[in-house]
Amino acid sequence: MALTPFIKGGEGDLNTMGLKIYLNGKLVDRDKAVVSVFDHGLLYGDGVFEGIRSYDGIIFKLKEHIERLFQSAHTLMLEIPLSKKELERAVVETLKANRLENSYIRLVVTRGEGDLGLDPRKCRKACLFIITDKIMLYPKDYYEKGLKLITVPTVRNHPEALNPQLKTLNYLNNILAKIEANNSGFDEAILLNAQGYVTECTGENIFFIKNGALWTPPPYVGILRGITREVVMRIARRLGFTVLEEPFTRHELYTADEVFLTGTAAEIVPVSMIDNRLIDENCPGKLTARLMAEFKKTIPREGVRYKAKG
Ligand code: PMP
Repeated sequence: MALTPFIKGGEGDLNTMGLKIYLNGKLVDRDKAVVSVFDHGLLYGDGVFEGIRSYDGIIFKLKEHIERLFQSAHTLMLEIPLSKKELERAVVETLKANRLENSYIRLVVTRGEGDLGLDPRKCRKACLFIITDKIMLYPKDYYEKGLKLITVPTVRNHPEALNPQLKTLNYLNNILAKIEANNSGFDEAILLNAQGYVTECTGENIFFIKNGALWTPPPYVGILRGITREVVMRIARRLGFTVLEEPFTRHELYTADEVFLTGTAAEIVPVSMIDNRLIDENCPGKLTARLMAEFKKTIPREGVRYKAKG
């Protein structure tokens, strides 16, 4: 999650002592959920993760998130200790233990405990944990007035260095960009790739609308294949938009009719200004608002149902 969230009910809510964490096959209390200082997830960022959301007892796109987790792990040659089905059950079990119907779920698999060298062969068993917590909502203002973005000097990781399609525990590329946006007093950062094409924000994909067509960068420029991104493209096609996955520069963003970001936590959030260029004074624009409304309708139809209470 990259945009600064608003914590529903105040900070204290996130520190609920009764919270149960799934850790390597057991549900343990929050203060007992600890991993080794020799874990390569901590020492080297060697691991993968997913951020998932549940809405009124529906885990939105759970199977797709688990699939993406397995794909990231496959490329890293990291063996996930559970099958996809078992992992699905573990997520549901954790939500039930915490009686959470609306939740933000963090699924993490690290390389596990090793020695101080980086060789993953020294790590005998991956470590898997699942945190489910109350959902953190973004300020209403973001959705009603739009975000102000800035292009930052840090470029997105080169796909042949650390492919942004892998959702790994190494998020420093994104964190550096976030720091630059923070330092400049903007809500979010846009990262370009080494060729100057727009990639994405620090934890959200980017879209623009021009003359009724919807544009978003293709995965090969260096982005995470966002699950929200896929849903939005599908909805847009159904609504009759031309959807284009083509590289574009900042100029296309500056001159767009509407711009918005997508992500699991943010859903669809409109953008009002980029590098001090006004994009849309009536934020969210008409077409973005339409996609936002359609997205909300999709949530109850596309996920794994569970009963957290009773
Ligand atoms: N890009 C990056 C870098 C991300 O970390 C995320 C997830 N927070 C996204 C895009 C959006 O992906 P999703 O819609 O699957 O949450």
